[in-house]
Amino acid sequence: MKRYESWGKYPPISHQQVLQALSPTSLLPLPEDDSSVLPYGLGRSYGDSCINNGNAIIETSALSNFISFDPSTGVLAAESGVSLASILQVFIPRGWFLPVSPGTKFVTLGGAIANDIHGKNHHRAGTFGCHVNKFGLVRSDGSHLTCSPTENAGLFKATIGGLGLTGLITWAEIQLTPIKSPYLDTKTVKFRNLDEFVEVSKALDPIYDYNVSWVDCTTEGDQLGRGLFMAGNFSSQTKNKKPATISLPFPCEAPTWLLNTYFIQAFNTLYYNKQLSHTVEGLTHYEPFFYPLDSILHWNRMYGKRGFFQYQFVIPFEEGARALKEIFSRITRSKRASFLAVLKTFGNFQSPGMLSFPREGFTLALDFPNDGQPTLDFLNELDTIVFGVGGSLYPAKDARMSPESFIKSHPRLAEFEPHIDPRFSSSLWRRVRRKE
Ligand SMILES: Cc1cc2nc3c(=O)[nH]c(=O)nc-3n(C[C@H](O)[C@H](O)[C@H](O)COP(=O)(O)OP(=O)(O)OC[C@H]3O[C@@H](n4cnc5c(N)ncnc54)[C@H](O)[C@@H]3O)c2cc1C
Repeated sequence: MKRYESWGKYPPISHQQVLQALSPTSLLPLPEDDSSVLPYGLGRSYGDSCINNGNAIIETSALSNFISFDPSTGVLAAESGVSLASILQVFIPRGWFLPVSPGTKFVTLGGAIANDIHGKNHHRAGTFGCHVNKFGLVRSDGSHLTCSPTENAGLFKATIGGLGLTGLITWAEIQLTPIKSPYLDTKTVKFRNLDEFVEVSKALDPIYDYNVSWVDCTTEGDQLGRGLFMAGNFSSQTKNKKPATISLPFPCEAPTWLLNTYFIQAFNTLYYNKQLSHTVEGLTHYEPFFYPLDSILHWNRMYGKRGFFQYQFVIPFEEGARALKEIFSRITRSKRASFLAVLKTFGNFQSPGMLSFPREGFTLALDFPNDGQPTLDFLNELDTIVFGVGGSLYPAKDARMSPESFIKSHPRLAEFEPHIDPRFSSSLWRRVRRKE
């Protein structure tokens, strides 16, 4: 039976009624009692923003049709349950790519808008919402609205990054990006510590459209924050034979001891040293460049039954490097190595959404196995550093931030709240607005 949970498998869910969105023109499905509803895409949000414990979710997998495409402009209209994977499958061969892509293609159009997702090209293209022309929204009062920067503009800005709380997005029109080849000209640069990361980032951000870094969270001293900086631009070259893409499932929920510090230390040392030279250039297919984790289906099972916490923040550039060093030192000292640590920079782009997460600065995403209270205490320590320099947390990745942290992370909350549909809620919303 399909499990409607979040990607981090935390918090566990005791009961959710599952309703189906049937077509863009249908009425909003609502429970017979007064339970609240929340749209559900592919459940790739890590925390509790995509679950509605004790209430109902609206499944969007039946909203899976393409509506129209203009090959002269790259404007695509599709129903909101269409996945980014389906868009890539149809439009890469026609010479078009997503305007912004997250680190997995198993995300729906509706989910991409509701979290106003960012990708490796934020410094060039801003968020996904910057490329949405308009969308359809169905509300619990029976209204079907078209929202755009000029039509129902308040709901347009509230729904982009609006955590699924303003209504059900039924379809959307987005602008695709032209490409000449499914391959990218890539450059991978080894950096020995965070100061070197900052230098590499300053040198390569102006040249490359797509940038992301993997960081080893187990080192100290002059190797603190060492890692690999991966940069790419879509190429005009191609290879005759596409590399074989094999997707293997992670077989079962792993025992909790598997991801211990020693294992992660050994893995990180091997991964950092897999590249012997300082810089490697190549021609890389878009799948391994954008979606390396998608080759292991259900990789979240490696954290076992208790699941894990993802922690992603953004901090301003001014004090960012100092704060990042403090965060990496705390992780190393705590022996809570993060298996995946992804560091990026966000550019100076205003996101259209009232609650959108990205803003200019460094952004770091970390994964920690759920050890209960000690993990929560440790994340509270990291919060002190993040908020101490005026940073914010990403709700799509969160399952534990306090109501105070949520308020600090969302300066436009008061403007957003009047747009919430009264029948919509989520586990995250009740937690951060103290309504549980
Ligand atoms: C491996 C991995 C890598 C990732 N990398 C990134 C990244 O680089 N950048 C980034 O920003 N995120 C990233 N994410 C997070 C992911 O992109 C977002 O959480 C995304 O929103 C998930 O989409 P979904 O379709 O699975 O939606 P869900 O997780 O099911 O739902 C997400 C939110 O969207 C709402 N929603 C879904 N459908 C609709 C609809 N039709 N109408 C209204 N609201 C709706 C839900 O109510 C919920 O609030 C990553 C996740 C994974 C697992």
